[in-house]
Amino acid sequence: MAKPNLNREPMPRQDPKVRAHNFNEVALGYGEEQALREAERCIQCPKRFCTVGCPVGVDIPEFILALRDGDMPQAVKILKSKNALPGICGRVCPQETQCEAVCPLVKRDVPVAIGRLERYVATWEQEHKEQIIEPVVIAKPTGKKVAVIGSGPAGLTAAADLAKMGYGVTIFEALHTAGGVLMYGIPEFRLPKEIVQTEVNYVASLGVEIVLDSVIGKIDTVDELLGNGYDAIFLGTGAGLPMFLDIPGENLNGIYSANEFLTRVNLMKAYMFPEYDTPVKIGKRVAVIGGGNVAMDSARCALRLGADEVYIIYRRSREELPARHEEVENAEEEGIIFKMLTNPKQFIGDEQGWVKAMECYEMELGEPDDSGRRRPIVKHGSEFTFHCAHFQTY
Ligand SMILES: Cc1cc2nc3c(=O)[nH]c(=O)nc-3n(C[C@H](O)[C@H](O)[C@H](O)COP(=O)(O)OP(=O)(O)OC[C@H]3O[C@@H](n4cnc5c(N)ncnc54)[C@H](O)[C@@H]3O)c2cc1C
Repeated sequence: MAKPNLNREPMPRQDPKVRAHNFNEVALGYGEEQALREAERCIQCPKRFCTVGCPVGVDIPEFILALRDGDMPQAVKILKSKNALPGICGRVCPQETQCEAVCPLVKRDVPVAIGRLERYVATWEQEHKEQIIEPVVIAKPTGKKVAVIGSGPAGLTAAADLAKMGYGVTIFEALHTAGGVLMYGIPEFRLPKEIVQTEVNYVASLGVEIVLDSVIGKIDTVDELLGNGYDAIFLGTGAGLPMFLDIPGENLNGIYSANEFLTRVNLMKAYMFPEYDTPVKIGKRVAVIGGGNVAMDSARCALRLGADEVYIIYRRSREELPARHEEVENAEEEGIIFKMLTNPKQFIGDEQGWVKAMECYEMELGEPDDSGRRRPIVKHGSEFTFHCAHFQTY
C-alpha cells in the first residue's frame, strides 16, 4: 500500500481581520486541484469505518474514488443517494466526531477532510447542473401519505428519503421559510442561506410539498392530520426553546437568549442594516455564556455587528468546549476572548433596568459527570465582578 500523504489540504478562508467585520462565508471551499490532492489521501481501506461513522451511511470511499477518477456526476450520485443535504452537511456536520474520527489516518496524523470533499462535490453539482443527466430514482407510489412536521434538517432528510421510497410527503413548517435552525440559527458566514434554499428546493423537486406558516397543533392537530388522509406523521420540530440560567437579574434589558438574538440577526436579517431595520442591541463589551456552537455563533455575530470586546464565558476548561474545534479556532482568530472556568452568579442592572455587570464565580473541575465531561464545581469565596454592557445567554 502506498504511504498516505499526511498533509491535509488547508481550507482557504477569509482573512480574520477582514471577516470579523462582514457576514460573508468564512471558509471558501476547495478548488479542483486541492480537492483532487485531498481525495488522493483516501487509502480506500476495505473496512468502511467512515461510512459506519456517518449518521446517514454515505458511501464515502466510493464518492471520493469517483471524484479522484474525475467522474463528478457519479460522485454526486453516490453522495446524494444517501444524503439530500450535502452542501449543508459538508459545511456544518461535526465530521471530527463522526466520519473523520474513525478514518484510519487519524492514528497517523490527520484524517481525510471528508466534509470538505463533500462540500466540493455539492458545489460542483450546482455549477454543472447540465452534466447531471441521470434522474433521481423514485420508487413506485405506495399510495400512502406522510405529514412531516418541521422543515429543519431532520424533517427535510426524512421527507427526501420517504419521497424516494414512493410516499406522498407534505412538510408543515411553522415559520415563513423552510430550513429550521439552518435558516434562523446558524449565521450566513458559516452557512449561506442560498445553499440551504438550494437544498430545500432539491427536496421539493423530489415531489415533497412544503407548506409554510403552518403551526401544527394550531391549524391542525396530529389527530386531525391522521383523520385527513395522512397515514403517518414524522415529528421533526427540533428543540428550539432556550435554556435559561435561572439566576437573579436574568430579565434585565440587554440580556438575550441566543435563540432570540440569532433569530433577529439571521432570519430577520438585522445584519443587513439598513436594508433591513430589525432592532438588535449590541453592547461595546459583550459576554456570551456557554461554549457550544450556539455560543460561538452568537459571539461572532456580536463582533461583526460592532462590539469592541466579546467574551465567551465558559464554566469548564478549553478541553471540554463542546463547539466544533474549527469554529473555536475561527472565533479565536477573529479576536473572541475566552474566559474559562467562570460561571455567572447574578446579573447586575443600572437604575433604568439595563444590565451593566455580572457577578461571577471561578470554577474548578471535579470527576466526570453523566455527560462524560469533568463536572464544574464552584470555588466558594471566588466571586468577582465583570463589567459589560450587554450579554447573550443560552
Ligand atoms: C446557532 C446554532 C448553531 C448550530 N451549529 C451546529 C453545527 O455547526 N453543527 C451541527 O451539527 N449542529 C449544529 N447545531 C445544532 C443543529 O442545528 C440541530 O441539531 C438541528 O438543527 C436539529 O434539526 P431538527 O430538524 O431536529 O430541528 P430544527 O432545525 O430546530 O427544525 C425544527 C423546525 O420545526 C419547526 N416547528 C417547530 N414546531 C412546529 C410546529 N408545531 N408546526 C410546524 N413546524 C414546527 C420549526 O419552526 C423549525 O423550522 C446548531 C444549532 C444552533 C441553534
